[in-house]
Amino acid sequence: MELITMEELIGQLDANLKVDNLQINHQTIEFWIHSKNSESPCPKCHQYSQKIHGHYIHTIQDLPIQGKTVYLHINVKRFQCTNPQCSVKTFGEYFKFSEPKAQKTKRLVDTIVDLSLDKSSLTAVYDFHQIGIKVKKSSLCNYQKKNSSN
Ligand SMILES: [Zn+2]
Repeated sequence: MELITMEELIGQLDANLKVDNLQINHQTIEFWIHSKNSESPCPKCHQYSQKIHGHYIHTIQDLPIQGKTVYLHINVKRFQCTNPQCSVKTFGEYFKFSEPKAQKTKRLVDTIVDLSLDKSSLTAVYDFHQIGIKVKKSSLCNYQKKNSSN
């Protein structure tokens, strides 16, 4: 059997991610991470920028590990759009594993939708809680609605 490191676990989301710190608590596992990306596409004009304007921390929930809720604190780069024709001034680094500003990774949302199909939302929220997935009833209904309209 091959052992995988925490870095490889996070690397499954995006190979460019690096783990800076890790904290295992009673009910949660928290990762502090950043990416090695030096450029990112503007969400509006799609032109890549390498001009870093600053950083901010974005916290996002990922799939649980051993029943513990997993939170990723991502040190996100803020880029300046260098296209003079574009109305966007600055934008956050793009990650393929989540929607911009999302509170959960796409793979977590997919899991939530898959596992809640045949359940009432109240039962599903309770069951998710038992395995370390924190989701509100209102968010769950939104995910299901979004999924059925696709
Ligand atoms: Zn732009």
